[in-house]
Amino acid sequence: MLNIILMGPPGAGKGTQAVDIVDEFHIPHISTGDMFRENISKGTELGRKAKEIIDRGDLVPDDITVAMVKDRLSKDDCANGYLLDGFPRTIPQAEALKALGEEIGRPVNTVIDISVPDQVLIERIAGRRVCPKCGASYNVNTMKPSVEGICDRCGAELIQRKDDNAESFAVRLKNYYESTQPLLDYYKKAGLLHPFNGVGNPADLKKEIIELLRGLE
Ligand code: AMP
Repeated sequence: MLNIILMGPPGAGKGTQAVDIVDEFHIPHISTGDMFRENISKGTELGRKAKEIIDRGDLVPDDITVAMVKDRLSKDDCANGYLLDGFPRTIPQAEALKALGEEIGRPVNTVIDISVPDQVLIERIAGRRVCPKCGASYNVNTMKPSVEGICDRCGAELIQRKDDNAESFAVRLKNYYESTQPLLDYYKKAGLLHPFNGVGNPADLKKEIIELLRGLE
């Protein structure tokens, strides 16, 4: 069974790879960023609490984030594995996930880390466009959709994320290095970490990741 965490800084290509991994292995894609954005667009109480924090690039408090993931991982569709994208992002979140995984009998068994240098991340984020409906990612320079501004997968109109501006991105990157990067050591010590180089062609990276996961299935 594949109980996977996908890690990497903002703009590393987690969302792009996640779409292919879940298609290949038929497991749910659990993106905390997508879940927050859905709550914001629906105007829920959670969305109202998270909106300002997310727009400026900060992390939503651990208790709120952990409760949301706990609820999601307890659903039946996670019984045969899951892919977490963007969670955990702090050591307390990782500790909570460890306890939760044991409680539900589905502990994380694979951590994929995609690393990309800052300069490349900055360029990618500036050109990123996303589908608000299915979550697919594009880039106006390097990963264009077939029809400009329209999602290839579901036909919705692409948007630029509100936190994909230079100011919020700088905050997100700082938070990544301060709070999230220490998790790499945490999972390395646990023997779960599989590092990948995220510079270059996403299709080649996809092949490498899927080959690894087939061997672990
Ligand atoms: P993402 O789509 O993964 O880039 O997430 C977008 C934003 O949602 C982040 O910049 C945070 O503000 C918030 N967020 C997503 N996941 C988490 C998490 N695990 N912990 C705290 N905040 C999160």
